[in-house]
Amino acid sequence: PEGGRMITYTDVTDLARRVDALSKPAATDGMTGLASRRQFDEMAGVEWSRFQRYQRPVSLLVFDIDQLKAVNDGYGHEAGDRAILHIVALCNEDRRASDLVARIGGDEFAILLPETELAQARIVAERLRDRIARSPFVAAGNIMARLTVSIGLAQATLSMSGIDALRRVAEAGLAQAKSAGRDRVGIDMPREEGHKAAAE
Ligand code: GH3
Ligand code: MG
Repeated sequence: PEGGRMITYTDVTDLARRVDALSKPAATDGMTGLASRRQFDEMAGVEWSRFQRYQRPVSLLVFDIDQLKAVNDGYGHEAGDRAILHIVALCNEDRRASDLVARIGGDEFAILLPETELAQARIVAERLRDRIARSPFVAAGNIMARLTVSIGLAQATLSMSGIDALRRVAEAGLAQAKSAGRDRVGIDMPREEGHKAAAE
């Protein structure tokens, strides 16, 4: 009544820590259990340093589910989610322990393949593409749907500035695969300097 105040103190360390953890992007994607984009960038960065130091081959495969929107529209979002999990399961089936598989977008995934030249990466990509195309997916009740993926590939070269540059080349291959009709592997080949010089 004389204008006094009562102040209470509460220890909020736990709460503050929890807020901190929640505001940081997670290392794993909650839906698929794969590495998140953030985790991928971090781990791929480490791999890139190794590549620069020891010049061991490293390739990147990016793939995107073909026409997932049609699955969502035709059978519901829950079927779209199951389609993603179906493909992730197939992808997990024959990965090497050293491969880094990540969900880098809604229906886009990346696989970093250490110690892998482009020719080998192409075999890995074709095998994955074929495995997915041949595995029937139950869209609803007794309705089977065919799921396919388009894949882009690139091998790291010393002229690339970093992992983002490698991803851009792989994404260009993916764009080619999409525009060529989907369900295929695309490789964006750098223009040969020799050919350019000969043409000039
Ligand atoms: P495209 O062959 O060109 O890849 O066609 P698309 O329909 O797959 O289209 P695009 O890759 O451009 O867009 C991704 C679609 O995937 C749109 C979005 O609604 C859907 N999608 C993204 N993430 C999820 C998800 O977590 N669950 C479901 N059900 N759908 C998703
Ligand atoms: Mg897609």
